[in-house]
Amino acid sequence: MVFYLLKKDPAELKELGSRIASLKDSLYTCSECGNISEADPCPICSDVLRDRGTLCIVEDIEDLVSFEQAGIYNGVYHVLGGRVSPFDDEELSEESVAFLLSHIRALNAREVIIATNPKMEGDLTYYTLLEVLKEASGLREDLKITRLAFGLPVGGSIEFADRMTLHTALESRVEATLGKGDIL
Ligand SMILES: [Zn+2]
Repeated sequence: MVFYLLKKDPAELKELGSRIASLKDSLYTCSECGNISEADPCPICSDVLRDRGTLCIVEDIEDLVSFEQAGIYNGVYHVLGGRVSPFDDEELSEESVAFLLSHIRALNAREVIIATNPKMEGDLTYYTLLEVLKEASGLREDLKITRLAFGLPVGGSIEFADRMTLHTALESRVEATLGKGDIL
């Protein structure tokens, strides 16, 4: 990184330096979703074109950014900012659970998508969240709780998939619909 910066124009470097120095002063944690942005609420929470009935729970902001960069999701997010990981002695704090539940209630969400990572910590976090949601009051009776599917990477091949990936792909299989317009 230093070599890259040394090639830059000095004025540009100064500008970059002052931006880095003021980074923390100009950023806020969104009081609705936990995202970080230059405004509170963040641009996602204040976007009226977003579907505020669908809430996607992510472990951290990097995961939110990945969804946003992909441009594939039009609901809102909730950043947990933590996970359940016994090896690292990590738990979901009471505050973070309360923050999540108040967000779901405020939105009167129809669907909560639990987008934790497909690994052990993500599984534990998923099951912990399921328990939390099952026992919570003030949520919609018909609240739909979903989890991202696991499976084969798009463009990959079955031949090179490991046993665990094949197993989860088989478990996450979806039913084909033979509606009009389907290519057979
Ligand atoms: Zn937000």
